[in-house]
Amino acid sequence: ASHPCLKWLSKNLLLVLTVSSVVLGILLGFALRSQHLSPQAVMLVSFPGEILMRILKMMILPLIITSLISGLAQLDAKQSGKMGSFAIIYYISTTVIAVITGIFLVLLIHPGDPTIKEEIGQGTEGKTVSTLDTLLDLIRNMFPENIVAATFQQVQTKYVNVTPVITPSHRDKNVSLAPYVKATVEPSAGMNVLGVIVFCIGVGITLSQLGEEAESVVNIFVVMDKVIMKLVMMTMWYSPVGIMCLIAGKILEIQDLSETAKMLAMYMVTVLCGLAIHALISLPLLFFVCTRKNPFAFMKGLLQAWLTALGTASSSATLPMTYHCLEENLAIDRRVTRFVLPVGATINMDGTALYEAVAAIFIAQMNGINLSFGQVVTVSLTSTLASIGAASVPSAGLVTMLLVLTAVGLPVKDVSLIVAVDWLLDRIRTSINVLGDAFGAGIVYHYVKQDLDEHDAEHSRKKMELG
Ligand code: ASP
Repeated sequence: ASHPCLKWLSKNLLLVLTVSSVVLGILLGFALRSQHLSPQAVMLVSFPGEILMRILKMMILPLIITSLISGLAQLDAKQSGKMGSFAIIYYISTTVIAVITGIFLVLLIHPGDPTIKEEIGQGTEGKTVSTLDTLLDLIRNMFPENIVAATFQQVQTKYVNVTPVITPSHRDKNVSLAPYVKATVEPSAGMNVLGVIVFCIGVGITLSQLGEEAESVVNIFVVMDKVIMKLVMMTMWYSPVGIMCLIAGKILEIQDLSETAKMLAMYMVTVLCGLAIHALISLPLLFFVCTRKNPFAFMKGLLQAWLTALGTASSSATLPMTYHCLEENLAIDRRVTRFVLPVGATINMDGTALYEAVAAIFIAQMNGINLSFGQVVTVSLTSTLASIGAASVPSAGLVTMLLVLTAVGLPVKDVSLIVAVDWLLDRIRTSINVLGDAFGAGIVYHYVKQDLDEHDAEHSRKKMELG
């Protein structure tokens, strides 16, 4: 018989804690900035966040393997085929909508100005990559030579790291771009998630076809899957602390906060407007048209995942939270989430696609180049491809940008112009990536719900007959 406020609080405690952690992280970061902490102190502030990242990353592989295999093994081939096709259609169409939104805005706002370029300075020359190379790499990664190695091997990729060079004006202000450089090196390290996914889809579907014979093996994956989700639940209670420290630590790490931000203000505004339109208009509208349900209630259930994405800047690290939100808060069938979420987190990146299109055209504008209609079309196609190819780790989109730039003959080294603000745009586009995956799961669920219910009814009827 407690007060309704208290009741609400106890029901939403975790959410309240997570929202507060973002606010506190920002406040703490700015408050500590004025203290000029030593690098070691900064490291200590970020440390609990680093641990959260490690826990989430630790969970990715077992989560993807157990969820895909257990999910697919419990479907019949027709259902998984249907689900897969719906998901792919959704992924492609939303990514294209995102790219078009971005291109429209960047042409309208025209944030690029050649004089800014002179002030920011130049980067070192990088090697160029061709679209064909990228496409082939993407397919190569789908078929790893060695599945065990794929879980820790470097993703096969020909991208070149771009090292921003500090211009004299930056040097005067004692600005170091080191953290950004590191960020562009990291994405290729890690596991080949796409390869693991393809393999697990194969195993899952085959198990479902084996039927009874496979039951004990399927059970192992089902139970393991439950275990991992329990661990995820525990991690969620730790995540507010981690998210707060990740954000505070990042704000402390960034050295040149206002200078570059001022110069790139219009560029950031363009990207953010595009992301906002996609998240608040395009996706909700699509969701409403498909399902006739309230998209904003759906988004509320996702808040936790969304905030984790802001903290971690990685869709795959956020994956455990996305599962949790969709299954527990929004009651989406596990067979749907288990199948479409890991695939979505790896290949469906609306935010990244939008960002890449805007950034490429921005760089053209900075160089005083007017792109032809054909080149704009090329930018949209390669941005889509680059978002599919981007790994779901921090700053991956920045690396696959090189593909978009070379496709229309823009200088690759100019990526360095936008590196300085990527730490912020990265986390925001990641949260949109996660939102897109979640809406996708909601829409796919809507279309296959009836099939799943019929399947369940038949299953229990058969059981009754046997029993
Ligand atoms: N960090 C993004 C993600 O994990 C990818 C990107 O850099 O755009 O979804």
